[in-house]
Amino acid sequence: MPTRNASIFAALAPICVGGALSAATVSDLDDAAKEHKVQLVVPEFPTIPEGITKRIDAVIAKYKETGDKVAKQDPAKATFQSTIGIFDDVDNWASHQLRPVGIVENTSLDKKLRGVATDEYQRFQEFAIGFSYREDIFQAVKAYADTEPKLEGEEKRLFDDTMRDYRRRGFTLPKEARAEVEAMQKEITKLGTEFDKNIRETDTLEKFTKADLKGLPDEFLATVKTGDDEYSFSGKLSAHFIKILDLAEKEETRRRMVAARSRHAMEPNLPILEKVVRLRSQLANRLGFANWADFKTETRMAGSEKTVRLFLTDLARGLQPKFDEEIEALRQLKAKDTGNSDAVIKGWDTFYYKNKLLKERFAIDLEALRVFFPYEATLNGMFKVYEHTFGIKIAQVKNPAPWAPGVTLHSVADAASGKPLGLFYLDMFPRPGKYTHFAQFGIIPCKRLESGLQQRPTVALICNFPKPIGDKPSLLSFDNVETLFHEFGHCMHSILTDVEFQAFSGTSVPRDFVEAPSQVLEYWIRDKQVLDMFAADYRDPSKKLPQEVLDNMEKADLAMIALHYRGQIGYAMTDLLLHSYAHPLQVRDVASVGNEALATYIFARPKGTAFVAGFGHLMGYDAGYYGYAWSDVIAADMASIFENANGKFLNKELGMRLRNEVFSRGDTRDVSLSVEKFLGRPRSMDSFLVKLGIKK
Ligand SMILES: [Zn+2]
Repeated sequence: MPTRNASIFAALAPICVGGALSAATVSDLDDAAKEHKVQLVVPEFPTIPEGITKRIDAVIAKYKETGDKVAKQDPAKATFQSTIGIFDDVDNWASHQLRPVGIVENTSLDKKLRGVATDEYQRFQEFAIGFSYREDIFQAVKAYADTEPKLEGEEKRLFDDTMRDYRRRGFTLPKEARAEVEAMQKEITKLGTEFDKNIRETDTLEKFTKADLKGLPDEFLATVKTGDDEYSFSGKLSAHFIKILDLAEKEETRRRMVAARSRHAMEPNLPILEKVVRLRSQLANRLGFANWADFKTETRMAGSEKTVRLFLTDLARGLQPKFDEEIEALRQLKAKDTGNSDAVIKGWDTFYYKNKLLKERFAIDLEALRVFFPYEATLNGMFKVYEHTFGIKIAQVKNPAPWAPGVTLHSVADAASGKPLGLFYLDMFPRPGKYTHFAQFGIIPCKRLESGLQQRPTVALICNFPKPIGDKPSLLSFDNVETLFHEFGHCMHSILTDVEFQAFSGTSVPRDFVEAPSQVLEYWIRDKQVLDMFAADYRDPSKKLPQEVLDNMEKADLAMIALHYRGQIGYAMTDLLLHSYAHPLQVRDVASVGNEALATYIFARPKGTAFVAGFGHLMGYDAGYYGYAWSDVIAADMASIFENANGKFLNKELGMRLRNEVFSRGDTRDVSLSVEKFLGRPRSMDSFLVKLGIKK
């Protein structure tokens, strides 16, 4: 999900195969659009390489021209619009040009076109970085800021954000110090690229004999056989790591695999990490922050290093009793398994015994659940659920120019007033060369146009659900259904937005919050009432998903949940500690910082290892790992309001409150305020701990 600052750089895209083709077209919505003073946008997608190059040229030229105009204006006549608003207009215009290029990059059937899209997009990004450092533009904006304008609402917020971002780039420092800041930033970026490359391109092979690998299936062993009785496992491949951790019966094998993985990229990356951590501390100091984590969190919901630290320690404490119980349950299994009543659980034992425990206690056949979720019925069912929750109407419209066969277009309108709210594409099944994950891509943001009309968003979901084979329907797994509800949640967050400036549109919220609205919606499919609206055995639709299956799944999910979150806290604390140095001279052995954090919150890694060297999040998502647990806690808090209400997740009044207080607001106000307005009370960690079965 792009953050606001990255919004004009972010890539995009969509897809799907939909139900019966409706005869409606987007222009059939013209009357309603006119009546409600909105504008829907069907983007134009480039189809030839020259088309992409021309667009990038045009966008760069437009930014240059606008920048010159802003810089050359008479400072005495500068206004909000002539210094700040003007860039929101250009960013919006650029979205129409650039974001379709992002879609092409991720979805085009034409390999050459995808390649050109990637290269040209990069050309734009390089330009954009230089552009954001233009001194003459800053001086013009500053001249306006110095008049201390009295602004309100979104204008005030956009003004404050703009000035804040200049300050964060070092613009308020003396010239020499700013040059230093720029140089440090470039050096950090360069080192970060090297760090990531070392993770990708180095490997640590650990060799085992067949006897070492007892418990692993022969078919898998055949794929890693490298000699007579020699099997090589890669330290960087999660699939190799998980196989051994889940299944290898010998403890020493599991320990060796954890050690190999925790040594990944250690030699080249430890010195790089140390340098980066020092530079970040120094840079934070130069910019007037106590430490790097304070600098990074300033623009996020958490707001400060201290808030994050308190959050993590509170959560660790809250989880403690359940964590202790879980470890004891695993320990008993190990004691039974090894015949040693004093057995102790180590870091390399948890997956193995957890796997055993789940199999023994909850024999859930996830494959058997697929019959309840044929793709088409599930998609239409989900539409029904979201229509009910948010008071909207979803309809398929003719896709005038699908970028691949089966890509559909749909409109969303407010059910009560008929006001068109936006458009979304569905591109739902895999094909060669396509983006391989599941994501929502914004294309057109919400914005008040010069004409007075409000431009409504257009987005795309690009996913990879199992394809139908022959006349057999595509049957989704429960995980797939959860992903569908989640990704469509991002789509709703984009489309339900109601803002003046594109900078605040939909998912342009702080990064530690952006997942929460989608995570809330994952709770819907844990509710039998909601599932009964669409989930039925496709061979006999009178058969619904039994409540006891849902209960059992929930129990299985929660059985080792504290272990999961304590692991998350270990990583998040490592990330936070490495970015909390008040002075670069305080930076000490970075390997030990990580090893000690894991030992404190979860389990120690084998001696002589340094997992931080292979911890990719430290570059690019630095001081941000806490965000996963952070947004889970907020989502649970919001979901609890539904759980405790009449009609639970189908409570319409609450659905509208969620739409009006959270989804429609985008980043026009602090997201903490939006969440609390929905909750009707301050945020709390309690709902999350209740959800986990810890608090009553
Ligand atoms: Zn997401």
